[in-house]
Amino acid sequence: MAIIVDKKNVNYVCKICSKKIKNVRDIEVIIPISENKLDDSFMFSDEVIAHKDCCTSLTNYNLYKDLLHLRNKCIVNHRCEICDTTIDHPENFMMTLVLSSNPRDILYKFNFLPFHKSCFSNSDIRYRIEKEIEKRIEQGAWIHAFNNDKYMK
Ligand SMILES: [Zn+2]
Ligand SMILES: [Zn+2]
Repeated sequence: MAIIVDKKNVNYVCKICSKKIKNVRDIEVIIPISENKLDDSFMFSDEVIAHKDCCTSLTNYNLYKDLLHLRNKCIVNHRCEICDTTIDHPENFMMTLVLSSNPRDILYKFNFLPFHKSCFSNSDIRYRIEKEIEKRIEQGAWIHAFNNDKYMK
């Protein structure tokens, strides 16, 4: 968000309508939350800068907002999903991002869960997520959104 501070030089072009964004207050910054490039939520990835109004006109914008709400709840709640204790050390904190934005998908319930890295690494949850992702890669339904993928290692 720091890039928006320079008020003299508002020189951003909206990713959606391709017009210049004249007023900083009209800017909406979309943050990457999807782990799968083929998920509906991935259109809101890649640090998109756009007009607020242009964003709200998008088909999946409400979906994105709902997912973002879940993400924010996860960040506040630092309780490990596996051992149910507070995650005190940031270096031992990890969370899943959007594995699926479809509520009927079995991966949906694994979106935005907080874990101790140490708990996650040998857990059944990790195994189940990885199995699902592997299956989807084979079916051509999954492309990793991030290079440093934490599940497949
Ligand atoms: Zn626009
Ligand atoms: Zn734990």
